[in-house]
Amino acid sequence: MANVLVFAEVRSGDLRKVALEAVTAARQIADLSGGGNVHAVLAGAAGIGAKADVLAQHGADSVLVLEHAGFAQYNPEALAATLAQRLGAGSYGFAVFSATAQGRDLSPRVAAKLGAGLAPDLTGFTVEGGQVFGQHFNMNGKTIATLALTGSPAILSVRPAAVQPVANAKPLATEAITSAADPSASRVKVVELKQGNTGKIDLNDAPVVVAGGRGLKAAENFKLCEDLADAFGNAAVGATRAVTDEGWRPHSDQIGQTGRNVSPNLYIAVGISGAIQHLAGMRTAKTIVAINKDKDAPIFKIADYGIVGDVFEVMPALTAAVKAA
Ligand code: FAD
Repeated sequence: MANVLVFAEVRSGDLRKVALEAVTAARQIADLSGGGNVHAVLAGAAGIGAKADVLAQHGADSVLVLEHAGFAQYNPEALAATLAQRLGAGSYGFAVFSATAQGRDLSPRVAAKLGAGLAPDLTGFTVEGGQVFGQHFNMNGKTIATLALTGSPAILSVRPAAVQPVANAKPLATEAITSAADPSASRVKVVELKQGNTGKIDLNDAPVVVAGGRGLKAAENFKLCEDLADAFGNAAVGATRAVTDEGWRPHSDQIGQTGRNVSPNLYIAVGISGAIQHLAGMRTAKTIVAINKDKDAPIFKIADYGIVGDVFEVMPALTAAVKAA
């Protein structure tokens, strides 16, 4: 039995979907380890505590609320000091972060302060003989490594969308905590937050991703992807590196080894060959549809549904069909 501390990510005063995924993962880990408690840390400006009940509903036994104007924006130094102090003082078996840009920055800071190991970007959890293990994609997703989560605490991060948030009605217990470091004294400051991908929904949060490749031939032809995304209403548009290198889409839209990891319910690959570096960022999607004029394109090997055809003919027809559905 081990207690789990989980960091709930906030952006612009709101809980992110990844925060609910991280708390759900923390609950799974606590249950696998024999039923420890889950303590979620919720940091933000005054009023952020109002979001605590959502974390309780997703499996937190208590929510540690850290309200301070200095946490209105991500504050890595003060957060790392506070989390490390809390972990050092408590009897925690695990500390859970999201494997997002923020989590990938914060979790190693905390691990370094504690001299603890870090298991990054995990996609699932199992238990054997009382030992909890995490799954991690290796070699661009060709193999899955099973990592024993040892140490006290074991620090880990959870790949966005790998764990589905589960909500259960639950009573809320909150505790106000104070920062171990003065947030305003931090040497690292977020001066501006720029919208990442160009779509209306964040790529990590979108249940449907329409991703375009070099087969679209030009920046303006991404309208075909945007039209299909609009027809779904809950979709984001992504791209391959070939596309972002061409400057047809911003780098923040890039999916793959050197881009974003996405795991939507539906991934539509439009004129994408299926290079291993691209697959590394999307192969965990629940259903993959590929449209490519080359029937031997590698993307068809991992696609659940394949359409061999010209994107300029298939995409308008697909968009019309989705609109009509
Ligand atoms: P292509 O490989 O050129 O494929 C275009 C596809 O479109 C072809 O299959 C073609 O048949 C099809 N097509 C063409 N015209 C049409 C049409 N009219 N209708 C239908 N289909 C058509 N790539 C990533 O995506 N993400 C990464 O993070 C990434 N990281 C990398 C890191 C490293 C270290 C390296 C070396 C490479 C990385 N790459 C990454 C690049 C990767 O190897 C591929 O070059 C890239 O993914 C190819 O992009 P693409 O599929 O758009 O283009």
